[in-house]
Amino acid sequence: MDIEVIPLGGYNEVGRNMTVIRVGGEAVIFDMGIRLDRIIIHEDAVMEKLSAEELQRMGAIPNDEPIASLGLKVKAIVVGHGHLDHMGALFKLAGKYKCPIIATPFTIELVKDELNMGKGRGQRLPNQLIVLKTGQTMELSKDLKLEFVRITHSIVQSAIAALHTPKGVIVYANDFKLDNTPVIGGKPDYERLRGLGEEGVIALISECLGAGEETKTSSETIARDMLRDHLFGLENERHGIIVSTFSSHTARIKSVCEFGAEMGRKVVLLGRSMEKYTDIAVRVGELKLPKDVELVGGGRDSEAALRRIMRDGKDKYLVVATGHQGEPDALLSRIARGETAYPVEKDDHVIFSAGVIPNPLNVANRYVLESKLRMQGARIIKGAHVSGHASREEHREMLAMLSPANIYPSHGPISMQGNYVDLAEAHGWKLNSQIHVSQNGIHHTLKV
Ligand SMILES: [Zn+2]
Repeated sequence: MDIEVIPLGGYNEVGRNMTVIRVGGEAVIFDMGIRLDRIIIHEDAVMEKLSAEELQRMGAIPNDEPIASLGLKVKAIVVGHGHLDHMGALFKLAGKYKCPIIATPFTIELVKDELNMGKGRGQRLPNQLIVLKTGQTMELSKDLKLEFVRITHSIVQSAIAALHTPKGVIVYANDFKLDNTPVIGGKPDYERLRGLGEEGVIALISECLGAGEETKTSSETIARDMLRDHLFGLENERHGIIVSTFSSHTARIKSVCEFGAEMGRKVVLLGRSMEKYTDIAVRVGELKLPKDVELVGGGRDSEAALRRIMRDGKDKYLVVATGHQGEPDALLSRIARGETAYPVEKDDHVIFSAGVIPNPLNVANRYVLESKLRMQGARIIKGAHVSGHASREEHREMLAMLSPANIYPSHGPISMQGNYVDLAEAHGWKLNSQIHVSQNGIHHTLKV
């Protein structure tokens, strides 16, 4: 029985992650993501108008043609967490495969949400949706078993997937950080990760985004403390406060809501995606909103809420809005352009609890947004953010726990994979025989 790693997306770019593991005639797909900067997309966007082929030509979703040409029997599509660069292409590609989609409860709810929208657009996923919690294992076939291991990342209920094969374990670690004090959920399941290492990991497929950063990524608790300082450490009692953060980052939203309540302000979460992620987090029991928090959808609902805020007084509210990347259609940009009932006034506080995703489009959009806000006298407060991705020191520890026979850096082009190669080589792994630099569409047979 030979085993092959088939990288299909996320090895020439950051985004559209997808990796296939072939074990004999069977295969398991890990992730089906979208490349966010290839179609102008923010968290509220839909891509229903474009066909899978068009999106593939644009480089926005993975090219899955090799699966058909190899005649593989796909046993499952495994989604480790709910970010769009890991699950945003499901609705275009998953329907081709007669197999279940397996994910944790929060992620499955996100898949279902898209499915409901899909119905309205005439799309439907035929795949069965199966919930697998971290700490659980399920049989995919006589030879294959899937296990989810608890891990920390910037979205709740993230899992590292372990595929148990007759030859050993294959670990798919996209995405993760090692956070021992996460704001929601438990710390990573170190005991189980060491256990996998003892059983024998034949291949580790790992993100490499932060492998060049000589540090440890800070805990979410640090972002929470910074946010507290930005909200309580400045004179803002008589002014408007807007916080912009990732709508999918439930832990961050939880901190904002709790601090708002502590300040005696009514927290209003605005926008469709904010409503979607937060509502699902509440439903699956990961988030309990303080009493006075209001969850408002997008469009007319958010307009009405902003009118009400102006009537009652800005100083009674804390507004949470989408649009921290400066997306022109998002609420924050619309507020900055004066297109809503909520004008930006002198000394209003605009707090960015998010980094700028470093692509030229975001940098330019964000520049425009900040300039507009500044021109109207807003106080801009940046920095209350930590990454969801592991840095070098966490990768070092993951390698020590798993001691994989083969390593496939992923989630970035060769230039980024190189940082991971440097680290692994320093610990004795050999390039090409044990560390495999990969590109989309180029298969690699495991020597096991
Ligand atoms: Zn992610």
